[in-house]
Amino acid sequence: MSADGYAVCPRCLAAAEKKLAEQAEILANGYGTVSVDEYNEAVKAVNEGLGPEFEEGEYTGTMREDYEFYVRGNTLHVDYGAQCRVCNLTFNLNQEHTIWDGKS
Ligand SMILES: [Zn+2]
Repeated sequence: MSADGYAVCPRCLAAAEKKLAEQAEILANGYGTVSVDEYNEAVKAVNEGLGPEFEEGEYTGTMREDYEFYVRGNTLHVDYGAQCRVCNLTFNLNQEHTIWDGKS
């Protein structure tokens, strides 16, 4: 059996949170001290989200996950891979675990 889906990329989420905090600071401190363009850009970013990965203010998954778990004989095979389509963060895990000691 195999499956795939999308998870929230931790690196992209951290970057988005940092950018959002910067925009919020511009809004909090910036009116009258930053250019109108900068201020309007901050308002737009906060109101509309920070990019295509945001939907209605929520960060959506950009990290594609593919995974497979199966038992063959006495062994559980765990095969997991994830890759972010935005920042290319990649993680892979391949493990085998003995599921029965052959005695008990
Ligand atoms: Zn990412």
